[in-house]
Amino acid sequence: MEAWQKKAELALSEIRPQFQVLMSELTTFKIGGPLDMLVEPRDIKELGSVLQFCRDEKLAWMVLGLGSNLLVRDKGIRGVGIRLAGEFESCEINEGRVYAGAGMKLADLAKQTAGQGLSGLEFACGIPGTVGGAVYMNAGAYDGEMAGVLEKVQSFDADQGSVWYDQPDLNMGYRLSRFQKSSQVITAVCLDLKPTEKESAEAKIAQLTCQRESKQPLEMPSAGSVFRRPAGYYVGPLIEQAGLKGFTIGGAQVSTKHAGFIVNVGGATSQDVLELIRYIQKDVKQKFEVELIPEIKIIGEE
Ligand SMILES: Cc1cc2nc3c(=O)[nH]c(=O)nc-3n(C[C@H](O)[C@H](O)[C@H](O)COP(=O)(O)OP(=O)(O)OC[C@H]3O[C@@H](n4cnc5c(N)ncnc54)[C@H](O)[C@@H]3O)c2cc1C
Repeated sequence: MEAWQKKAELALSEIRPQFQVLMSELTTFKIGGPLDMLVEPRDIKELGSVLQFCRDEKLAWMVLGLGSNLLVRDKGIRGVGIRLAGEFESCEINEGRVYAGAGMKLADLAKQTAGQGLSGLEFACGIPGTVGGAVYMNAGAYDGEMAGVLEKVQSFDADQGSVWYDQPDLNMGYRLSRFQKSSQVITAVCLDLKPTEKESAEAKIAQLTCQRESKQPLEMPSAGSVFRRPAGYYVGPLIEQAGLKGFTIGGAQVSTKHAGFIVNVGGATSQDVLELIRYIQKDVKQKFEVELIPEIKIIGEE
């Protein structure tokens, strides 16, 4: 154990840091080497202590949601991974006003708001990440996206403490938000949803769930769509037309159900996925003159 890790055991004892945690256990791809230290702060005070510790020890840190948009390299992550727990996983729904912590599962929030007769978040029922991860990525599906439902977002950093950003200041675009260019932790959101019949919101969720289950390989470990949508094309059909459906490198396979997904068919390494990504990019470029850019975040020691 390194000197800083011994210090962390003492300084952050209440938060119970864990060391050398395999990222394959913290990602939906089930891929990735060890993370030096994982901490799960339960409120702003604990989050503040973690960020202060990282600053004092000059440690790199990152927020981990549910790891559903991450490909973590095989050597793992040097530094600290922060997963929001406790208070950050709760929500309050009061007379149509929704306040949710960034560590909450987005799909649970979609179901709860629909159950309270609120419409707007149904599109998110099958997105397997946290509220914070969805804001960071401006996650979207079926003509909906986070930008369309956010009233404001709260973030935290060691310099400014807590700050609320109103919707126009979130700089959201296709899978983009202001937080991708800052080192802030998204801590909470306020949503702007519309009253509706509970039954109609729940029916929409049931319909979108069926649609997703029939088209996506949800039974296999993956990180969802690997590439951003290039203007004028759909990624799945492009890769399929290139003849790559089912193409496999090591344990990484172009899904036979949806060619826009790479799935881990067993024991895939990050290296397998990276090689497959490069192979797809080269082939699609050669055949269709289209540049495919990863949407998933590729992180960790090279
Ligand atoms: C089966 C499947 C289906 C999917 N379908 C969709 C879809 O329909 N639409 C879509 O947009 N995406 C989809 N995804 C991708 C993924 O679920 C989304 O991008 C999701 O929003 C990521 O959330 P997360 O909590 O898992 O974030 P992670 O993957 O853990 O992290 C993603 C990025 O967000 C940052 N981050 C996370 N939380 C915070 C925070 N609180 N503060 C600051 N930064 C933070 C991380 O540092 C990282 O850079 C799918 C994935 C899978 C596996």
